[in-house]
Amino acid sequence: MLKGIPASPGIAIGKAYILDKENFCILEYRIKKEEVSKEVRRFKRAVEESKKQILKIKEKVREKIGEKEANIFQSYLSILEDPLLIEETVKKIREERLNAETALREVCESFLERFKVVQTEFIEERFRDIEDIAERILHNLLKRPIMSLSHLEENIIVVAHNLAPSDTASMDKDKVLGFATDVGGRTSHAAIMARALEIPAVVGLRNVTKRVRPGTTVIVDGDRGRVIIDPTPSQIRSYQKRKKVFLAYKEKLESLKLLPAQTVDGREIELAANIAGPEEVDLAVENGAEGVGLYRTEYLYMNRPSLPSEEEQLEAYKTVAEKVYPHSVIIRTLDIGGDKFLSPLPVPREINPFMGWRGIRLSLELVDVFKTQIRAILRAAQYGKVKIMFPLVSSLEEVREANHILLEVKNQLEKEGVSFSNSVEVGIMIEVPSAAIIADVLAKEVDFFSLGTNDLIQYTLAVDRVNEKVAHLYQPLHPTILRLIDSVVKAAHRENIWVGACGEMANDPLGMPVLLGLGVDELSVAPTSILEVKKVIRSISWEETQRIASHLLSLSTSQQTRRYLEGKIGRKIRKILKGENNGAR
Ligand code: PEP
Ligand code: MG
Repeated sequence: MLKGIPASPGIAIGKAYILDKENFCILEYRIKKEEVSKEVRRFKRAVEESKKQILKIKEKVREKIGEKEANIFQSYLSILEDPLLIEETVKKIREERLNAETALREVCESFLERFKVVQTEFIEERFRDIEDIAERILHNLLKRPIMSLSHLEENIIVVAHNLAPSDTASMDKDKVLGFATDVGGRTSHAAIMARALEIPAVVGLRNVTKRVRPGTTVIVDGDRGRVIIDPTPSQIRSYQKRKKVFLAYKEKLESLKLLPAQTVDGREIELAANIAGPEEVDLAVENGAEGVGLYRTEYLYMNRPSLPSEEEQLEAYKTVAEKVYPHSVIIRTLDIGGDKFLSPLPVPREINPFMGWRGIRLSLELVDVFKTQIRAILRAAQYGKVKIMFPLVSSLEEVREANHILLEVKNQLEKEGVSFSNSVEVGIMIEVPSAAIIADVLAKEVDFFSLGTNDLIQYTLAVDRVNEKVAHLYQPLHPTILRLIDSVVKAAHRENIWVGACGEMANDPLGMPVLLGLGVDELSVAPTSILEVKKVIRSISWEETQRIASHLLSLSTSQQTRRYLEGKIGRKIRKILKGENNGAR
């Protein structure tokens, strides 16, 4: 069994198909002076051929999958036009009289050397793109067909070092049961594509291509991030059972789509979805989300060499606003930094990135980038119900400054005669302890709060949310967290503003009822979790969660709170989630 990163949920069982981008041998030779022009022409023809192929794939993707996925290929096309790659190669052919294949390979290698020092996920992604492009040019130089997933004869599980957008785009979707790759993270192209296509996937397995032989049976467990190679008959039976249970359960949950997220004693909770881009909205709406409670816009800035323009952002925000209407979408402004990601922005390496230059801090300094985003949000707001939310707020000054910039943008738009909506509600994430403690002050300045429990827990307990070493200290039910949330909700309600929760705690079977009991008004969870959360909400009484929450506030340790909750509702909720509870409506 190999462990990797769960990239797209579900279970797939099938035969491995190794996508081997053959490491063919490149002949290295020098050319004669009089052959130089011919060699340059040969290289440029291969580049042109590659461009044509990519344009064709791009069109196919636009038709079959969507605009955003098609745009991934734009960065491929820009690599093909990048003087660094093309002109450097031509220069090498001319000056060193190298054959085109060798010149191209040397240029790619020198890229790799030069950028090795800045090892960010963004740079790594760019390298994979460049490698993919270089490989395509080489194939075209050598006139060899490129191995592809477009004409598959049977159902397979794709095992690859990396899946480039060009691989997934031309893929025969009905035949591919799952993905398993050596490299990549949750934000790699392969992972994003797998989720968009709803194909179970595990990425970042390091050496799955070396461990699996073609045709071997493998199980891809996209929920837990595992790949089982050559499973025993009993493992296959057990996973088949899990898959069946999962599918049957999913089908059963579907009946809840149109029902309200209402407790047995009539308290209605807004149940919205967290999304990372327009491609996830359909899934959210299909699952009955009452709007989008958190649109993480940073994904729009990732995996690309330049910032998204105002028009591009407008298009994305407008699509989401229109699709969720008559519900609303809360667009969170850029939240880059911390463990996130890669972007074309000049974010320096920091010793403590989580406490560094991230969220609203970055936007308040990169004012032009911030203003462009706000312009796009305000303009998109004409097409639906749009709210704006600022991340990582830690002081009143930040809120005032952000609101001031918002006002400036509105004035500017008015001056330019550009139409926009003037009635966009403004909220902030409560995810830093300082903001939680002065929630009474902040509540006077904004229209709503959303509890970012992922960060709030990390900062309050001083536990890095991505560090496995301290994972046992990451306690959503720590008395401090519960007291903090309690005081935030009370402060908000005193000012008549609502409070949502969009961190993972809203999705946690024990944490979610506590949030309800503490008075949280809205929950926002992953699109694929909506129905499950709704099921739990519809099985519990608000009054009971309030009683439980009030007792929890009197306890002193995480162990006590957990034990109390387990005893009160733990077993019941597990039964509800397994579909065994007759009380569940
Ligand atoms: C959070 O911190 O809880 C949150 C929802 O934001 P993110 O996970 O994007 O930091
Ligand atoms: Mg956060």
